[in-house]
Amino acid sequence: MRRPFIAGNWKMHGSRAQNAELIEGLLLGLPGQVPVDIAVCPPNVYLWEVGRLLKDSIVKLGAQSCCAESIGAFTGEASAAMLKDVGCTYVIVGHSERRTIYREDDALVARKFLAAQAQGLIPILCVGETLEEREKGQTMQVVSRQLKAVLDVAAPGALQQAVLAYEPVWAIGTGKNATPEQAQAVHAHIRAEVAARDANIAARLQVLYGGSVKAGNAKEIFAMPDVDGGLIGGASLKADEFLKICAAAQ
Ligand code: 13P
Repeated sequence: MRRPFIAGNWKMHGSRAQNAELIEGLLLGLPGQVPVDIAVCPPNVYLWEVGRLLKDSIVKLGAQSCCAESIGAFTGEASAAMLKDVGCTYVIVGHSERRTIYREDDALVARKFLAAQAQGLIPILCVGETLEEREKGQTMQVVSRQLKAVLDVAAPGALQQAVLAYEPVWAIGTGKNATPEQAQAVHAHIRAEVAARDANIAARLQVLYGGSVKAGNAKEIFAMPDVDGGLIGGASLKADEFLKICAAAQ
């Protein structure tokens, strides 16, 4: 009942030439229709051009972050309206790299979530614990706190137009993915938290796993009942690898 979703988070990688090659490879490998939602999230400077390259394909465009403010003197930022204007369907909010390197706290992430939805963008809200938090047995508590910060300020029903991503920080870019069982346990917890507010929305909510997903481990992770696809970093930069991950979600 839930469509799988594979999103590529390119992070700060790419060039106009590399992007063109990657998109060409993706489009060549994708038939007209696939039973999976697919998106790529390039750096902001390339959004417009990548959107043109995607043309009317099934691959949607997403951004990696947005400003919580709507307009004004916010040097270096891009508003949700601007991202929508250049063709984005999705925007990632609360990625752990934003939370840790750029000190984005739960309250700011929640404001970004609201700013995105106010412009009709679908936020991909990332949550996840650090290694230290996992080792202290705080995983569920941390994920609940990050989720609650958004649910408490969003309108009832807001998750109807949102995607969640569980990304354990210790699994991001480390080559050490969560086991399918570890991912399933947290995904089930996330879905239960959402179900406590609205069971119908929880049943339809796409919850993605992110953290060292590769062609070689995607299938077993996506096979878990509450894992609805993945948010892919490094492995989304190679067309053949990303296509294999998309195939593993079908
Ligand atoms: P990797 O797939 O490179 O571990 O990155 C995951 C991620 O952070 C996606 O947002």
